[in-house]
Amino acid sequence: MQPAHPGPQTPNRPSLVWFREDLRLDDHPALAAAAQSGPICAVYILEEGEDLSRPLGGALKWWLHHSLDRLQESLAEHGIGLILKRGDPRHIIPELVQHLDIGAVHWNRRYYAWSRPVDAAIKEELRGRGVSVGTYKASVLTEPWEVKTGSGGNFKVFTPFFRAAQATCDAWAEQASPAPQLVGHRGPALASDVLADWALLPTKPDWAGGLRQMWQPGEAGAHKRLTQFIEKALLGYGEGRNIPAKPATSFLSPHLHFGEISIRRVWNAARAAMRANPALQTDGQVFLSELGWREFSTQLIYHYEDFPEESWKEAFRSFPWKHDPSTLRAWQRGQTGYPIVDAGMRQLWKTGWMHNRVRMIVASFLVKHLLQDWRAGEAWFWDTLVDADVANNAAGWQWVAGCGADAAPYFRIFNPMSQGEKFDPDGHYVRTWVPELAKLPNKYLHRPFEAPTEVLRLSGVQLGRSYPLPIVNHEKGRKQALDALASLKQPVTGDLI
Ligand SMILES: Cc1cc2nc3c(=O)[nH]c(=O)nc-3n(C[C@H](O)[C@H](O)[C@H](O)COP(=O)(O)OP(=O)(O)OC[C@H]3O[C@@H](n4cnc5c(N)ncnc54)[C@H](O)[C@@H]3O)c2cc1C
Repeated sequence: MQPAHPGPQTPNRPSLVWFREDLRLDDHPALAAAAQSGPICAVYILEEGEDLSRPLGGALKWWLHHSLDRLQESLAEHGIGLILKRGDPRHIIPELVQHLDIGAVHWNRRYYAWSRPVDAAIKEELRGRGVSVGTYKASVLTEPWEVKTGSGGNFKVFTPFFRAAQATCDAWAEQASPAPQLVGHRGPALASDVLADWALLPTKPDWAGGLRQMWQPGEAGAHKRLTQFIEKALLGYGEGRNIPAKPATSFLSPHLHFGEISIRRVWNAARAAMRANPALQTDGQVFLSELGWREFSTQLIYHYEDFPEESWKEAFRSFPWKHDPSTLRAWQRGQTGYPIVDAGMRQLWKTGWMHNRVRMIVASFLVKHLLQDWRAGEAWFWDTLVDADVANNAAGWQWVAGCGADAAPYFRIFNPMSQGEKFDPDGHYVRTWVPELAKLPNKYLHRPFEAPTEVLRLSGVQLGRSYPLPIVNHEKGRKQALDALASLKQPVTGDLI
């Protein structure tokens, strides 16, 4: 598919920009195109309906509220009111077009199985009425149909995908452009919903205190994070990104998910820093490849529409998952008796984010030691992560569960004690999130159940009371997982390029 530019537009009729996962003004292709032809109206639709979207999780709702609030402020500075509507865009967009006498509608493309038919239907309807429609690449550097294997198919393995994708990433990123001159449309007033009435923020109880402390949703917050990261953490990222106690990653994931910063800006900032300082080459390349995983995940959900719900490797479709609500609950609450797992789950609950290394550890523990379906973990992450993303979340879970494209082999089972000792050797991370273990010496911090009674007593730990005993014995959990794998009806095959 090529970028779809609108046809000729009747002069003086306003254009409508439909904001979706692109809540920014800078480097916004749909906004830039609309600005070229005159006055602008802007809408955000809270899409509701079974075939329309996946209902937002609690943490995503919290973020969306604040991000829309910021976007309303930024647009208002240019005399543009952001119209808020909830419901089915297939009705709302044509109604707005008629009411405001819109000449062209512009939006940036999304790649979900449910959103593509909706976009196509709206495009057809509008074009049938003589209204121009422009759609643009914006949330990714490579659209899912752009990077192909030698035989013309899509890649199923990351490394060759990323090797082939980088030239397109560079070329597209170079075209980033600043926010355009904007002129608001002075036409008939249109009733907009009031953001507060959408009740996106939690009230009873208000569990968002930790989120407020950690995050600044919106375009300004996103750019601040990028600058901080490039200046303070890019050097050393390759190693530092594995240490959960260190703020050594970019923390850009929720900003990227909501499109508060363009992926081109992030890519360019890393590239520019690498050019300016040769010492950043290796770390910079690791960072770019993480952005590459984001591209890879997006193309997976595009080419395999049921990827977010179904194990990609067919062999896993008969996997004997256990479906045990009480086990799942202990994991969700950070009460498994394995400190690194519990620390991660509590960090997630408090801040809406979890370090990538720990996401891998907790996910492995759930699907392997506890034999719970990866979809149960994915759903919990969906509800609690501020960066919950259909593509990255499903790809992350399927990678860990061993059932995804280019996944870790299922038989590679993380040992939660040795992972903790390797990546949190001084215990700063566990002590922050599992304070009841704070006084344990490092030797036992990641395996309190092996500590002698006297050490536990001196550290104020009562196993089974102040901190749980392990929910499953590591060796037993490991063996159960391997037995479950061996029971699959079909062999698990390797990946194909
Ligand atoms: C089980 C599991 C679930 C995950 N769920 C999500 C999710 O819902 N949303 C999400 O954005 N990421 C998800 N990830 C990927 C990764 O953990 C986060 O993107 C990362 O921790 C975000 O922190 P950061 O912005 O500081 O990352 P950085 O290390 O600074 O990376 C920069 C950016 O690259 C992208 N990125 C990094 N790692 C990955 C990856 N493995 N896959 C895809 N993109 C990546 C993100 O957009 C990230 O913001 C998941 C990983 C696992 C193992």
